[in-house]
Amino acid sequence: MDPHLDLDVAVVGGGPAGLQAALTIGRVHRRAALFDDGRYRNATVAHMHNVASHDGTPPAEFRAAARAELAAYDTVEVRTERVERIRPAEAGGFVLTTGSGEDVGAAAVVLATGMRDVLPAVEGLGALWGDLAAACPFCHGHEAAGRRVGILGAVAAPHQSRILRPVAGSLVVLPHEDDAPDDLPEGVEVVTGRVARAGRDGDEVVLTLEGGRQERVAALFVAPRAVQAAPFAEQLGLELNPSGGIRVDELGRTSLPGVSAGGDLAHLAALPMPMVSVVQAMAGGQLAASSALMGLLAAGR
Ligand SMILES: Cc1cc2nc3c(=O)[nH]c(=O)nc-3n(C[C@H](O)[C@H](O)[C@H](O)COP(=O)(O)OP(=O)(O)OC[C@H]3O[C@@H](n4cnc5c(N)ncnc54)[C@H](O)[C@@H]3O)c2cc1C
Repeated sequence: MDPHLDLDVAVVGGGPAGLQAALTIGRVHRRAALFDDGRYRNATVAHMHNVASHDGTPPAEFRAAARAELAAYDTVEVRTERVERIRPAEAGGFVLTTGSGEDVGAAAVVLATGMRDVLPAVEGLGALWGDLAAACPFCHGHEAAGRRVGILGAVAAPHQSRILRPVAGSLVVLPHEDDAPDDLPEGVEVVTGRVARAGRDGDEVVLTLEGGRQERVAALFVAPRAVQAAPFAEQLGLELNPSGGIRVDELGRTSLPGVSAGGDLAHLAALPMPMVSVVQAMAGGQLAASSALMGLLAAGR
């Protein structure tokens, strides 16, 4: 038998999107549980940027502050626990099965489980990720101002080099396994050949190409492939965008009534990909929570 729908809203994911969603629900005294298994997309980042009033704050500090704020709301429970499965309940609502095997009933679900980055297969790159190597020029470019900056891969290189041009002293594109892009801005150097290894020397990235040539840069920009961090889109049969992000409407609602989504994992059909940032994730989480609530009101709960 399905469990009673004790929760008004189950929020899955405790990054910026889920934390904001839980706060929104707590503010109107609805029963919510936030489930989080602690594998944040920016886990390796020492300081987050481009977040007004928190520019440079360690992400862990930000999450701890948000969790502390949630403690003031009696109807919100934060559970450091993984959700393994979500399914529609027979009489409406949803059943979430946790990692410990418990079934929890919720009238609505907010998905905020984020995306996982799959980096190009370059030895040593993972150890630099979030520090000397990153994807977003808004988040990381300024720290390498005036210095030589590298871009790995050709696909995002024209776009990224245009954004980074006023920031970097000089730019080098390493197409790696791609063909060299032909639409780079003037003055951008291109070094062809497969990059075999990425390592650190002081505050620099040392890239070793097959054949032994080495290039040194102060920061390396990479365009990783992003995949859903959790299996719920698949389990619930949610419609996806071509990017692999969950398709949501202007109010954060997915294709399944009762399930809304916010943060990196979801975006409007009109966008080519999610707008990946802490602020956007919080905004998405708030919208998804509000929609979840509106759905409950419409159902007379
Ligand atoms: C290297 C790097 C640097 C970045 N730097 C910046 C920056 O400086 N400024 C900025 O604005 N943005 C930055 N970002 C982007 C930012 O980190 C993301 O946009 C933001 O974290 C997205 O928030 P989210 O809540 O959607 O997802 P996440 O922060 O990834 O949180 C998702 C949460 O869901 C949880 N979860 C997943 N599956 C389950 C499950 N089955 N059960 C329970 N919990 C689950 C995860 O453990 C995680 O806690 C950076 C990203 C990267 C990769």
